Amino acid sequence: MSSRETRFDVIVVGSGLVGLTCALALSRQGLDVAICSPLSMRKDTRTTALLMDSIRYLEKLDLWQYLAGSAYPLKTMRIVDGSNRLLRAPQTDFRASEIGLECFGYNVQNQAFADILEQHVVAEERITRVEGMAREISVSGNDMHVDVEADGDVAKYTAGFVVGADGGNSIVRRELGIDTRQWEYPQSAIVLDFSHEHPSRGTSTEFHTETGPFTIVPRSEHTAGLVWLERPDQAEKTVAMEQTALENLLERKMQSFLGKITLQSPPRAFPMRGLVANRLGDGNWALVGEAAHVFPPIGAQGFNLAMRDISALETVLGRFTTQENRGAQYAKAREADVNLRTRAVDTLNRSLISPFLPVHLVRGMGFHLLSGFPALRKTVMRFGISPGFRARR
Ligand SMILES: Cc1cc2nc3c(=O)[nH]c(=O)nc-3n(C[C@H](O)[C@H](O)[C@H](O)COP(=O)(O)OP(=O)(O)OC[C@H]3O[C@@H](n4cnc5c(N)ncnc54)[C@H](O)[C@@H]3O)c2cc1C
Repeated sequence: MSSRETRFDVIVVGSGLVGLTCALALSRQGLDVAICSPLSMRKDTRTTALLMDSIRYLEKLDLWQYLAGSAYPLKTMRIVDGSNRLLRAPQTDFRASEIGLECFGYNVQNQAFADILEQHVVAEERITRVEGMAREISVSGNDMHVDVEADGDVAKYTAGFVVGADGGNSIVRRELGIDTRQWEYPQSAIVLDFSHEHPSRGTSTEFHTETGPFTIVPRSEHTAGLVWLERPDQAEKTVAMEQTALENLLERKMQSFLGKITLQSPPRAFPMRGLVANRLGDGNWALVGEAAHVFPPIGAQGFNLAMRDISALETVLGRFTTQENRGAQYAKAREADVNLRTRAVDTLNRSLISPFLPVHLVRGMGFHLLSGFPALRKTVMRFGISPGFRARR
């Protein structure tokens, strides 16, 4: 075992999309940042729907221009009741043009996004890349210490602030003794890419089924990603299906509105759970992204919420001193948004999978009201996009 000592303004633990964006945002504030994560060779074939506030934030960081060319605009969100229930909701279309926008956001490929972030991290003088797993985190006075293990060696790093961006099973959270509220859903998300015969024309379609949403998010006019929430046993059977049988099943589930379906990636299943950290920050640490909050991929909320975490952290670190408890300032800034989004996604998801008839009555009435009353629909669209929505009314 060898040991080295190095000091930074901030150590970001985790280099998923959230950690990389966070490191870039903080370095552009003039902070010396270390970003620590094991090298990952795994390709992420998923896509992420970025809503307009996230796009504006990426523009501010001078990153959007590198992604824009491969991103696909999402102009209409269509909700279709795909259940066989007695009380069914009407089809509801949310059009960005109704609230004065060209589109709600853009769908980007996670791998292309990660590659662009990595290139900028490597080029940024104020960022040091530390390869390895954070193992131990301790606090002494105003210093935060992080032990990073790589190939049996442990290197010791010190910083004035630590950011946990290390995902749902966060070591930072555990090492700092932060409890969580956690819950399971009787669902797994089946994720795959496909090409289709008829053009999508910028419409993302969400079929609400008895097991959860079945959401098609376009990547181009003739390609799309699918996120399909199913019972875990059924999800396992589905990912094991032979290709043609699965393509036929998908076409039937989509009521053939996109025509013939051809798989572009093997399906994968992710178990669904929810989690919120009991404290989002305190002293000289903060949690961002899935280290702070995890919920099912419904309504494109997870990563977009994380972008608002990063933006708030950047503001807090720029505005407050160590003596003003920057971690607690960050937690205060983020709690309401994180709790609201977590509850909204949880309620919608549970209303879909509930066998209880009155729940479907309320949900059905909600969608009747939304299709009939443009003003209500506009309010819901603004809520879905962001609490800081500023577009023309
Ligand atoms: C199927 C699916 C579809 C989704 N679609 C959308 C969408 O359309 N829009 C949206 O807004 N959100 C979406 N989300 C949510 C979004 O993907 C997540 O919110 C986001 O990817 C979380 O990123 P993260 O960087 O916080 O965590 P992760 O991606 O889990 O990254 C954590 C990183 O930390 C590293 N790490 C872990 N432990 C350590 C350690 N001890 N030391 C150092 N490094 C460590 C890991 O190697 C990894 O690099 C979706 C989620 C799923 C499952």
